Amino acid sequence: MQSSRSAALEEYARARERLVRRLSARGVQDERVLQAIFETPRHRFLPEALWGQAYRDTPVPIGEAQTISAPGVVATMTEALSLSGHEQVLEVGTGSGYQAALLHGLAASVLSIERIPVLAERADVLLSELGCDRVEVRVGDGTQGAADRAPFDRILVTAGGPELPLPLLSQLTVGGLLVGPFGDRGGQELMRIQRAGPKKFTREVLGACRFVDLIGEAGWSAPSL
Ligand code: SAM
Repeated sequence: MQSSRSAALEEYARARERLVRRLSARGVQDERVLQAIFETPRHRFLPEALWGQAYRDTPVPIGEAQTISAPGVVATMTEALSLSGHEQVLEVGTGSGYQAALLHGLAASVLSIERIPVLAERADVLLSELGCDRVEVRVGDGTQGAADRAPFDRILVTAGGPELPLPLLSQLTVGGLLVGPFGDRGGQELMRIQRAGPKKFTREVLGACRFVDLIGEAGWSAPSL
């Protein structure tokens, strides 16, 4: 007889399959991104009591007043990075580590920075457990990037800032892309910036969104009340 654990795992795999079909129907086209979402056990990045919500297209609280973003938003942002597998990626806002796990399957290496130590620690342990050995998790202010590892081919900001953090722009390779939400606290525009030349940047707005605050030297100065 099948154990209840393996039955649950099979049910999660079926739920991921349905999620991927919904994302594809809604316009996500990058097969590598859809495959990574299918292969990554999102439930593991949630508090266990909330595992039942893992494959709905909604954000879920992960503690410390933070959230794991909805899979649809994660898919859009990941697709916007146009990853081929060879890129050095910087993620600002590790949170649960889910996005970093997806990036691990799609790029050469990932440096992920989180300002809340307990979240960084938890994500680091889980990412190691899942074999994501090309992800480094750091505690710090991601708005300053990581000068010791720069330049990056791709930068993904997963918290909403008032404006584009200048240190991140300077750490992007020529031809590189930065994706992230910038604007007011109540709502932001999801932007894709390309460094077209050493001093030339182009900007594209991908849509409206609402993220938790990007807090740091080149972000908001304190959490909203
Ligand atoms: N990518 C995450 C995931 O897959 O679970 C979700 C990110 S959550 C929407 C945003 C995260 O950004 C929070 O964990 C928050 O603490 C973090 N954050 C906010 N400002 C930051 C900063 N300046 N540097 C690093 N992390 C920051």
